[in-house]
Amino acid sequence: MSRRDSRSRAHRRPESFRCLNCRLDVPLTALGTAHRNHCPNCLWSRHVDERVPGDRASECAARMEPVSIAVRSDGEWSIVHRCTGCGALNVNRIAGDDNPLPLLRLAVRPLANPPFPLERLAAW
Ligand SMILES: [Zn+2]
Ligand SMILES: [Zn+2]
Repeated sequence: MSRRDSRSRAHRRPESFRCLNCRLDVPLTALGTAHRNHCPNCLWSRHVDERVPGDRASECAARMEPVSIAVRSDGEWSIVHRCTGCGALNVNRIAGDDNPLPLLRLAVRPLANPPFPLERLAAW
């Protein structure tokens, strides 16, 4: 009684992934990035990489929420993702076709919601 299950399909590199947040089918090849790891529409990601982008070493696989923008010294933007499962933080390069609207929303979020009254700045 041995059934031969072909595992070859599981080993084939998928050409797209389904976004866990907005359900968009995302092609893996993207402009300006070798390892697309987030959705260009809503910017959500998935916890699959452990140390370096593309290593796929993480067992977590939970959704990762885009929480902030980081700007490198050369001016390039990165997205900071926080895992909703284990709380890990990852920094990922943005891709050429990322939706600029949620990117800007992330960038201005701290300014739109300051932890102190802005009127106080005027007195300085
Ligand atoms: Zn999405
Ligand atoms: Zn995680």
